Amino acid sequence: MPFHINVAVEKATLADIVPLARKLSTKLAIAFLAGLRGNGQSVPCCKGCCACCSYLIPLSVPEVFRLREELLEMPAENSSRIFQSCLDTAKRILDKKFRTSYLKSFSKSGQPRINQVSKWYGGLELACPFLSDGLCMLYEQRPFACREHIVTGSAVSCQTDHRDEPNVAPMPVSILEVLGQLTAELEQSDIEAVMLPLAFAWAQDNLQRAERTWPAVAMVKRFVEILKLTASKNSAAPVLST
Ligand code: SF4
Ligand code: SF4
Repeated sequence: MPFHINVAVEKATLADIVPLARKLSTKLAIAFLAGLRGNGQSVPCCKGCCACCSYLIPLSVPEVFRLREELLEMPAENSSRIFQSCLDTAKRILDKKFRTSYLKSFSKSGQPRINQVSKWYGGLELACPFLSDGLCMLYEQRPFACREHIVTGSAVSCQTDHRDEPNVAPMPVSILEVLGQLTAELEQSDIEAVMLPLAFAWAQDNLQRAERTWPAVAMVKRFVEILKLTASKNSAAPVLST
C-alpha cells in the first residue's frame, strides 16, 4: 500500500502526528475490511451498533493531547457537554472498589494484567462519554482503539454480559501501539496508555509534555519505521512503501 507524506513544519508536538496516523489508520482499516469480506467473513460493525462503546478504551499519549486541542477548538456548548460527560464517567470509575490497583495496572500498557483490567471495566457497564443516542459524538476523531476494533460473526457476542467473547479480527498493524512505541522512544519513557474518561484530567496534569517539540521530519520518519517494523512482524500485513 503506497503512501506519500508531506511535512510542512520544522518542529512538531506529539499531537501533530495524529492526523497523519488517522489517515493511515483509515486506509489500513478499509484494506483490512475488504480482505475479511473478500475471504467470505461477515463483519457486523455498522453505524448505531455500540455495545463495544462500553469497553475500556485506551488512548495513546499523542491522541490524548490531540483530542484535548480539538475539544478546546469546538463551540463551548459542545466541548462543555463532552468534558462534563467525561467528568461524570471518571467519577463513577474512581468511586469503584479496587480502583487504585486497577488504575496502576492500566497505566503501563503491555502488562499481563491488562486483560483483567478490561474485564473489570466491562463489568462497570459504563457507556463511553462520547456516546450520545447510540452514536459517537467524535466519530472523525475517535480513538485508534475504536478504529482497530473489528469483529467477525455476530454483534450479539459484543454485549458485555454475553457468555461468548466477540471474535475480534486482529489488525495487521496497530497504530495505537505504534504511537505508544514512538512516544516512549521520543520521551525515553515507558509505553503508556490512558483510559478515555480520564484523558482530559490526565492531559491537564501533563501540559508540559503536550508542549514539547521534536524535529518534525525525524518524528515522521521514525513513526513510519516503527509502522513498517510492526507490519513486517506480521506476515499477513500489507506491504507499506513510502
Ligand atoms: S465491535 Fe461489535 S458492538 Fe462494536 S460495532 Fe462491531 S459488531 Fe457492533
Ligand atoms: S469514542 Fe466513539 S466509537 Fe469509541 S467507544 Fe466512544 S462512542 Fe464508541
